[in-house]
Amino acid sequence: MAYMLKLIQKQLDTSLIKLSLVFAFIYCLLFNSAVFIYKFDYYKISVLKAIIELSKDFLYIYLSLFIIFFGLTIHRLVFIVGTIFLFLSGALASYYLYFFKIAPTKEMMEAFFCTESNEAYEIISTRLIVWLFFSLFVAIYTIKHFSVNNTKLFVTKLLAAICILITINSIIAPQYKVLKTYFPIQYLHNSYLYLFKHTNNNARIDINKQFSFYDNSSDDIVGVLIIGESARFDHFGINGYNRDTTPYLNDLENVFSFKAQSCSNVTHLSVPCILSRHSKSNIDGINQETSFLSILTKLNFNTSWISTQSLLKYLKNLNVGTIYDDVNFALIPGGSTLIKMNDHDGVMLPYIQNILTNTGKQFLVVHTSGSHWNYLSRYPENFQKFNPDCNYNGKANFSKADPSTCNSEGLINTYDNSILYTDFFLHSVITLLKDKNAFLIYASDHAEALGENGRYGHGGDLTIEQTTIPFIVWFSDKFQKNNPDVKIAIKSHTNSEINHDFIFHSLLDCIGISSEIIDKNLSLCKVNNG
Ligand SMILES: [Zn+2]
Repeated sequence: MAYMLKLIQKQLDTSLIKLSLVFAFIYCLLFNSAVFIYKFDYYKISVLKAIIELSKDFLYIYLSLFIIFFGLTIHRLVFIVGTIFLFLSGALASYYLYFFKIAPTKEMMEAFFCTESNEAYEIISTRLIVWLFFSLFVAIYTIKHFSVNNTKLFVTKLLAAICILITINSIIAPQYKVLKTYFPIQYLHNSYLYLFKHTNNNARIDINKQFSFYDNSSDDIVGVLIIGESARFDHFGINGYNRDTTPYLNDLENVFSFKAQSCSNVTHLSVPCILSRHSKSNIDGINQETSFLSILTKLNFNTSWISTQSLLKYLKNLNVGTIYDDVNFALIPGGSTLIKMNDHDGVMLPYIQNILTNTGKQFLVVHTSGSHWNYLSRYPENFQKFNPDCNYNGKANFSKADPSTCNSEGLINTYDNSILYTDFFLHSVITLLKDKNAFLIYASDHAEALGENGRYGHGGDLTIEQTTIPFIVWFSDKFQKNNPDVKIAIKSHTNSEINHDFIFHSLLDCIGISSEIIDKNLSLCKVNNG
């Protein structure tokens, strides 16, 4: 054993390891700083947490850059050409991210490769040229300084070859999602997708390529979609429930409430369905095409997704998780240290407020935990209005219990408290939007059985208790001023039952996007003639 270790030690070229560590660090510092600054802008609400979050990212990205540079040491020439390429491409990518907030997404790489389709890449400023030359200079200077030589040691060569394979694998299919948001994997992976997508069966069909979309929206429009969780239409005070579970919504102006049917009774089917032009009868279509968010991103809306729950958790093996790729920024579903999964929805409010300080056209999706089981974990103590709730012993161990162990009265009290909190949350978001030119839809992903015929929760057979959802529309005074007919149109739908299909067509139509595939009959902003 000791002999083996010694042999390996003798076979390891430590100078190449040091060199790779240094190059990885310089690259990270020069180019990924732009990514860190970009991300920090979203996280700045809690500086300490942002630092923790970004440090975690830094470790991943530093390690992956080390692997890339160590792979390049396989041959002196490969290292020189590869490093110069990485530094120049890194300079380009960081420049556009830093000055224009343009990230090298798949769409942008497409624009980059066919230059006439995007003006952003036609702007070549002196500032950019200086930055490119500076990066080139750093690359050449460092290469000279370290005098890269070919190693004669077999183990070192073998390790470098393995690193090349890992790098190629990261470019084709990044193992860690976080790598997809940093350089160089982000632009290399997206270039790969663009250049070789014909052979990539996993890529969804880009809806923007199938149809044309025209943006007639105001420059300051803010669209918001709040996706509720397990909320029932008939447990909302605003819908005639005998308890006042929605005191805030009752008092708000320009709120319209609809009875609606959900696409399915499980989150991971409903959410993609909500975002898609396809309806529930075409599940394959839903999963194979990009969502309406990709349309807005393409039309230069600043699109963000914020959530206290993750779709990826359920969809590891499905392609649907790539919904997050349709927006400019996702904060961060699936295990962020910033937002704990299934935390109270209110933790998102400061982040939403921060996102809304951006100027220009915006669209924000807020995916809530709403009234998902365990209801008791969905609201803070001061929302415990209906009693007794299911918290028999005041102990957290209840979280392991299932709904059927709570008596019916307690269960409904607990559930209603979570609706009360949802009412507060919706009101809080609306307050942030009040002075903007804003249009908002809130719709639950599905509803919830509360013991009817012995059924609890959701999933399984489709029952009316699990699919009858609240669907609420709100718009600001400014929005109404710009769209004087909107009230009459929305009101004309209030007596008819609607469904999730209305979301795609209404959101696009109401905020001012037109296209041959927007069905006016499914838009709440067109008068209902039916
Ligand atoms: Zn759900």
